[in-house]
Amino acid sequence: MERERIKILTLNRSKCLIIISILDLMKIQKFPSQKELVKRLHEELFKRTTFSFYKYVIIDEPENLRNELFNKWNNLNIFGRIYVAHEGVNAQMSIPEFNLEKFKEQLYSDKRFKDVPFKVAIEDNGKSFYKLIIKTRNKIVADGLKDDAFDVTNVGKHLSAEEWNREIKKENTIVVDMRNFYESEVGKFENAICPEAHSFRQELPMVKEILSGKEDEKILLYCTGGIRCEKASAFLKHHGFKDVNQLHGGIIEYARQVKVKGLESKFKGKNFVFDERMGERITDEIISKCNQCGTLCDSHYNCGNDGCHLLFIQCEVCKEKFEGCCSVECQNITRLPIEEQKKNQRETAKNVPASIFSSRKRIKSPFL
Ligand SMILES: [Zn+2]
Ligand SMILES: [Zn+2]
Repeated sequence: MERERIKILTLNRSKCLIIISILDLMKIQKFPSQKELVKRLHEELFKRTTFSFYKYVIIDEPENLRNELFNKWNNLNIFGRIYVAHEGVNAQMSIPEFNLEKFKEQLYSDKRFKDVPFKVAIEDNGKSFYKLIIKTRNKIVADGLKDDAFDVTNVGKHLSAEEWNREIKKENTIVVDMRNFYESEVGKFENAICPEAHSFRQELPMVKEILSGKEDEKILLYCTGGIRCEKASAFLKHHGFKDVNQLHGGIIEYARQVKVKGLESKFKGKNFVFDERMGERITDEIISKCNQCGTLCDSHYNCGNDGCHLLFIQCEVCKEKFEGCCSVECQNITRLPIEEQKKNQRETAKNVPASIFSSRKRIKSPFL
């Protein structure tokens, strides 16, 4: 009898243990909050490198590749934002330094990505991403064009940083910034045309219009990492532009070459990036102003009021004065209890008129 009792007790104990471990598992599987993830990132005791690459290559089953990459990269503790589409892969990522070689080895062993060039961030605190997101998309760059609109492989001539510096000086060359307005407002090449575009899809027809009549002139295109210019150069060539050139590897690679080869940087200011860093400083020049007080400043922030989330430029003084908000109105909202803030958001969403700033709200990466 006593023996039986002990057996039952043991059984109960093991059942309890099973239940406890299931509960533990559930706790682990529950997604931690953004705040928690950022905290963990800052507590890491190793270094990370911010990396990016893209490759136009036919992917038959984007969903399969997505899952495969997620498993591999999750195991290597890689963070980042990656898009997989039929037309290729576009990746911005943050990799623990001790896993860099393993990551490259793995990627290069897939013949579709053999020797794909990487771009390494120039100003890097290793805190660019705090989680791994890999998504499948129709395109790796949202261009708004039909797949068969033109020959995307007929791209412009790639120029190295040295060639770029030589060409940019010449008379009659036209330099066009292929990025969105909030990117070029904090950093650009001297004399570049910077269209007031809110998205890449809007920018393509805009640039075609601006350049109309200049089909025989030398056109120089640039963007952050080169991926947008691959499309844009093919688009312009398709529309009759004869001498289309593009900065090889974009501003990121240009800045690296300037540093390594000791060249003069014709790019002034900051290179806007779509990660937690918001920008990489390329030169000390500050070409923009605080949106609130007008002092020279080139730090972008999102308004602290989640219902607003405006992307704007704010100096340190205003940041403190407005507590990271874009206006007194937003500042007042952030002081309300959370529930009331949420209610307020719903109200505002209903009443917001299309304002000059609306395009800056919840800005999306050009790759979406
Ligand atoms: Zn200010
Ligand atoms: Zn605001």
